Amino acid sequence: MSFIIAIDGPAGSGKGTVTKKVAERLGFINIDTGAMYRCVTLKALENGIDIDELEKLDNMLEKNLNIELKRQDSKQQVFLNQKDVTEKIRTPEVDEYVAKYAAIRIVRESINKKLKKMPELGNIIMEGRDIGTAVFPNADVKIYLDASVEERAKRRYKQDLEKGLKISYEEVLNSIIERHKLETEREMDPLRKAEDAIYIDSSNLSIDEVVDKICDIVNSKMK
Ligand code: C5P
Repeated sequence: MSFIIAIDGPAGSGKGTVTKKVAERLGFINIDTGAMYRCVTLKALENGIDIDELEKLDNMLEKNLNIELKRQDSKQQVFLNQKDVTEKIRTPEVDEYVAKYAAIRIVRESINKKLKKMPELGNIIMEGRDIGTAVFPNADVKIYLDASVEERAKRRYKQDLEKGLKISYEEVLNSIIERHKLETEREMDPLRKAEDAIYIDSSNLSIDEVVDKICDIVNSKMK
């Protein structure tokens, strides 16, 4: 039986960086489920499929979507139908639409089906919004990683500047607030802390402090 670590939390809480480091330290397979929702969004936008065109979306999900998460030189690369979309899925345009596509039932069902098979690959650490509540409610360790909205926007703004994007702090802050509202208020699998998840506020912690905390929790559980 594989060991499953579920990490949930809002955008900018540090999930991505922390999960990658924990995976490296413990030798677990790291799965970024947000990247999968981003691929669906990118493909739908490229094909001009709107959020209410459910038949077209269903067809796209069934026939036209092969998502692969690969790790090369410790960097995660995302391939959509054999094309490297690692950068393309993180543009402000995808940021703006992803929570809308992610709220659609058939999109969630299609992705959840793929995610539920992943423990066959070995021990996994999976990050997202609904991993401890909907995808793996029986995960061995559940973490809810949080941070203040200002801190989350600051982190995303810094990442965007590093990527060379021309965007203001206010735009990033507004996008984070709007996405959080959609994610927490949606009907299907909203973002929330699982009752048995351990809450970590990373606002005033370094990445390594959060990684240490999670590894300690996992190690004591694995003993
Ligand atoms: O984690 P990231 O910001 O890349 O996720 C992109 C979007 O995908 C989120 O804003 C959320 O709407 C959606 N998502 C989700 N459920 C997950 C992971 C991501 O709804 N498990």
